[in-house]
Amino acid sequence: MFTLPPLPYDFDALEPHIDSKTMEIHHGKHHQTYVDKLNAAIKGTEFEEMEVQELLKNIQDVSADKKQAVINHGGGHANHTLFWQILSPEGGGEPSGALLQAIEEKFGSFDKFKELFSTAAIGVFGSGWAWLIITKDGELEIITTPNQNSPLMSQQIPLLGLDVWEHAYYLKYQNKRPDYISAFWNIINWAKVEELFEEATQ
Ligand code: MN
Repeated sequence: MFTLPPLPYDFDALEPHIDSKTMEIHHGKHHQTYVDKLNAAIKGTEFEEMEVQELLKNIQDVSADKKQAVINHGGGHANHTLFWQILSPEGGGEPSGALLQAIEEKFGSFDKFKELFSTAAIGVFGSGWAWLIITKDGELEIITTPNQNSPLMSQQIPLLGLDVWEHAYYLKYQNKRPDYISAFWNIINWAKVEELFEEATQ
């Protein structure tokens, strides 16, 4: 059975960029609901023993009657688990080392990457995510996914994800999604993103 991972910081730790009330509801209610509904969907199947990341990579093995529930709620569980980890009250700034080099090689500069990622996130129609991922060919790429669809289902490795569902920002930012996206850059835990990059590329 899947469980809600504890937040690695207090609800108010990301203030003023993400407000305490949003974090409390986002983690305690939204993420908890993905966990509960995922558990309900896979109850009594072999998937109960799997890590959620493995489950999503093997989504084709899930029976047709459960597949959409696993895409929605398994994706929701995996996406949010990553999201909490790549944020930090000590975040912001720029990545360093091999990740910075790879970003500069792929996108020209960190600032250009920031611009492209922000534009992608602003452009998500309705609910979804913007991602920095590693493709099957080992390339960095910026993508978006609708709803809770996880890049893992396409054998892509997510390094950085930004939740642009309204539940992630509406209490503080209302319709001003671009302001939420600007604030995001102040709280990115680049040390964690670098760790994920190293794991994926070693
Ligand atoms: Mn969310």
